[in-house]
Amino acid sequence: AAKSSQRGSIRFYSHDLTEKALERLELRNSIQSGIRNKQFCVFFQPKINLKTNALEGAEALVRWHHPTRGLVFPDAFIPVAEELGLINEIDMLVLDEVCRCVKVWQSHLAPGSRFAVNLSAMQFTREDLVSTIEGIVQKHQCGTKFLEFEITEGVLMVHCERLTNKIKALKELGFTFALDDFGTGYSSLSYLSRYPIDVLKIDRSFVMDMLESQSSQVLVKTIVAMAQNLAMKVVAEGVEEPAQAALLKQYDVDIAQGYLFSRPISIEAFASMYCLPVPPSN
Ligand code: C2E
Ligand code: MG
Ligand code: MG
Ligand code: MG
Repeated sequence: AAKSSQRGSIRFYSHDLTEKALERLELRNSIQSGIRNKQFCVFFQPKINLKTNALEGAEALVRWHHPTRGLVFPDAFIPVAEELGLINEIDMLVLDEVCRCVKVWQSHLAPGSRFAVNLSAMQFTREDLVSTIEGIVQKHQCGTKFLEFEITEGVLMVHCERLTNKIKALKELGFTFALDDFGTGYSSLSYLSRYPIDVLKIDRSFVMDMLESQSSQVLVKTIVAMAQNLAMKVVAEGVEEPAQAALLKQYDVDIAQGYLFSRPISIEAFASMYCLPVPPSN
């Protein structure tokens, strides 16, 4: 009996594997057709200047309008898209949408505003990254002074000449760089002086704990002091409560982003919230 149940479990296991493989194959097909059929779209989450309460740009966050599953959030498809080599196209279609918007918004924006696009670590293995980005910006004629890329600490850990060259080339085009989820990556800080990073985005976990945890407060204050000494700006992520915003302002944090101000919203909703023209559909 033991033998047969063992067999059964093995059979079940391999059946399970087949199902997983099938699921991935299906996901690959549906991501590819989603790209072709323009099912991926951009939501914006505003970034707010804590001193003036004015809009200082936004972060672009991708969403998938799936024909049967409805609105799908990035955590459900970004990791798979990375594994399957489909993330490049998704990131570039997000940049394309952001450029389309910035083109019509730029004359209404406060100086220093930045619209940020998340760049997957995989992008930096592409030889055509810089030329592709340059092509998109040129197509829209939107300039780069309102554009930013968000990368994670993991990207900078793999130190190599090619990475440095790509970041430098994009900086020369006028893009700024923000370090996303700052404080959750690796402990070595030497890369902060090695790369020309403009902005530190304090991870949501520190902001979340800040009101209760003395050590999170110390960490936030330390990150702000370090950023100021390195001439970097600070953005706090995941601000949900007025008391958090007040404390961050007291700590001299420049910019905040979070549900307190707004969830990520559609382009149309964002335009109407900030009295910006609705970009013509393309
Ligand atoms: P992220 O870049 O760190 O983006 C911030 C995430 O925190 C977003 O989740 C946002 O909706 C969420 N968030 C913002 N404010 C609050 C808050 O006050 N409370 C809470 N609980 N959450 C808040 P989202 O949109 O689900 O995106 C998740 C992650 O997916 C992003 O983290 C980013 O790493 C990735 N991602 C999103 N869009 C893109 C993209 O176009 N390309 C790439 N490569 N990655 C993307
Ligand atoms: Mg981000
Ligand atoms: Mg983040
Ligand atoms: Mg994140």
